[in-house]
Formats: sequence, structure tokens, C-alpha cells
Amino acid sequence: MPYCDHNATAPLRPSCRDAVAHALGVTGNPSSVHAHGRAARAIVEEARALVAKLVNAKPDQVIFTSGATEANGLALWGAVEGAIDQSETGKSARITRLFVSAIEHKSVLKTAQMVAERVAGVRLETLPVTADGALDIEKLRVALREGKGRALVAVMAANNETGVVQPIAEISRLCREAGALLLVDAVTAAGKIDLDAGLCDYLALSAHKLGGPQGAGALVVQGDAPLAPQLTGGGQQKGLRAGTENLSGIAGFGAAAKAVLADAGEHDRVMAVRDHFEAALKMALPEAVIFGAGAIRLGNTSNVALPGLASENIVIALDLDGVMVSSGSSCSSGKIAPSHVLSAMGVADDLAGASIRVSFGWNSTNADAEAVVASLLKLRQRVRTRAAA
Ligand code: PMP
Repeated sequence: MPYCDHNATAPLRPSCRDAVAHALGVTGNPSSVHAHGRAARAIVEEARALVAKLVNAKPDQVIFTSGATEANGLALWGAVEGAIDQSETGKSARITRLFVSAIEHKSVLKTAQMVAERVAGVRLETLPVTADGALDIEKLRVALREGKGRALVAVMAANNETGVVQPIAEISRLCREAGALLLVDAVTAAGKIDLDAGLCDYLALSAHKLGGPQGAGALVVQGDAPLAPQLTGGGQQKGLRAGTENLSGIAGFGAAAKAVLADAGEHDRVMAVRDHFEAALKMALPEAVIFGAGAIRLGNTSNVALPGLASENIVIALDLDGVMVSSGSSCSSGKIAPSHVLSAMGVADDLAGASIRVSFGWNSTNADAEAVVASLLKLRQRVRTRAAA
């Protein structure tokens, strides 16, 4: 069945399935010193090295988590609380300003909001994006210049709804100049464009967007960045994230990183499928509006509006044809509220309400792309016939 919702979860790669199955057969606790424990530890460390390589980091910078929601939470709470700890010893200043882009995933937006509500002296500001969905760099420049106090900035590497790639190198330079910390949610971009964890202080990853299993992710942290642990206990992962490691999830995560590293041409193949989709869509439904088309986008994502149709109805109609896409972000599907990402780009509610996200990945084919277009065409004809009756 045409599965075109890779940004929600990519299908598990066969090599990841094998790695997960193998790890499930390994008995040891990675913290145990005996032979079984050492075998488990070896799996964790091999995966850590692969995940580090994926983002040009060192293995000891990788903290495995239960996914990117936890990684983003660890970064935001950990940075703010860690900076408070450091300020008490006179080592560095507290974080008093949080700047988050308006198009961040809810795991960043809601957590930043909660941090600002609960930690005295922390103010939250949302940074706007342009109509094409890229961060308004000028606004960041002004925000960092105005006001006093140490800042923490959160901007994702690429947006999960539109695929629009954010100017992280430039954002990084501005943050460095201003002495601000930078969190990059690299969930959607990982494995698709080159990433350099050295450009930021915290970088969040999730295995299931790469073809690995759900429930595994990582936060990659630069050595001097403040980080107060949010889970305390057995002291695993240098005391920064206690809890027995999710051995099979981590093994699958490592295998996903390995698959991506081994196949440099994968993203170009996926981009060809996405481009085939958009060309066929424009031919069949010329009224379709493609969001972020003028910006630099990931090659796998297409967010399109079909004026006159409603997102939720499109998703359901396509599902009945066995074609799977998403209405905006999957985390908010089920709700009819317009996507916060499209709203931030200035898209009117009625057009945003007619949008779907089609996202391809490692096993997508042109036939998948054509199935989406055929099903959309069928739906539009049905709607027009009904309207004419
Ligand atoms: N950030 C982005 C951009 C995402 O798309 C997602 C998943 N929808 C997350 C963070 C959260 O990741 P996880 O599912 O691993 O908690």
C-alpha cells in the first residue's frame, strides 16, 4: 500500500529489524560487568558511534533518550536548570531569554512555554518565519541584540510539515556572536541533509524518522553546554540520563544511522519521487498550492493545499483507497485546527485547512507518488460531480 507519511514514522528498514531482533536476543544489562553485560554494552557503544557520525559529533556527546520529545525536553529544561546550577558556582550566567521559532515541533513549543511559566526570570519569545517558511534571520538578529541576559535559541534544521530547511549555519554564527546557546531539532533533516552538531549546543534526533524503531532518540550535547539531568537514578550515560538503556531500540537506531551513512544517493532518489509527485499533481490538479516551494526544502516532503477540499476529508478519502498521507503534522492530526506552521507562514485558515503533507522516504517509488495523485483526482471529481448534482 502506498505509504507516504515518512515524516510521521518511516517504515522500519530491514537492517534495523535485524538489529532490533538480534539485540532482543542479548540478555545482558549494558551496565553489568560480566560477559553478557559487555555484549550489551558493545551494542550500545557501536550504535552511539554511528549516531555520532551521522551528525559529525563524537560518541561521548551522544545521550540516548526515548525519542526526540525527551531529547528536546532534556535540552530545554536541562539547559535552563544547568545554567542556574553553574551560575551558583559563578561559572556562567543563568538563561533569562528563550527564543523559539514559530514553526517548532510542539515538543519544543510547549516545553519552552512551560519552562518560561515555571522558572522565575525566564522570558519566552517566538520568532517569526517568512512566507516561505524559513526563519526571519533579521528578527533573530534584533532579538539577540535587544535585551540583556543569556539566551537559548531553538530552531529546527528542517520543518516536519513543509520540509523547509532552516539557515542553521547563519543562526549558529549569530548565536555565537551573542553568547547564546542553540538547540537544533534535527529530527526531520537527519539522514537527508548534512548535519554538523558542532554548529549548535544541543541537537535532537529520533530513530523512527530515519527508518529505525519508535521510542529511541538522542540528544547530542557539546561538552561545555550546561545540562542538568532530568532523569536521575542509576547514573547511566554519565549521570545525564539515568535508566537502563533501551538496547533493542538503540541497536535499531544505530542500524538506521549506518544505512543512511552507507547510501549517499538515497536522498536524491527520494527527491526524484517527490519531484515526480509534484509534477504529476500540478498536471492533474493545477489549482494545487505547494507550500515552501520557493525555499530550500528537503527532497522528501511536499505540503500541498487543494482549494475546495478539507484536509481531514482528503486524508480519509485517500485512506479508503489505501493511500496514506497526513493532514499537516501527524502529532496534531485528529484536530481540525489549522497547522501552526502554515499559520506562521501567513497562510489563510481556509487554505491551510485544505492542506495535506505527503512525505516520502527510503522505500518510496514513483508508483506511490502516482497513487496519491490518482486518488486526489478521483476525490476532486467526486466532489465536483456532487456539487453539480
Ligand atoms: N520533532 C519533530 C520535528 C518531529 O517531527 C517529532 C515527531 N513527530 C518530534 C520532534 C518528536 O519525536 P518523537 O516521536 O521521537 O518523540
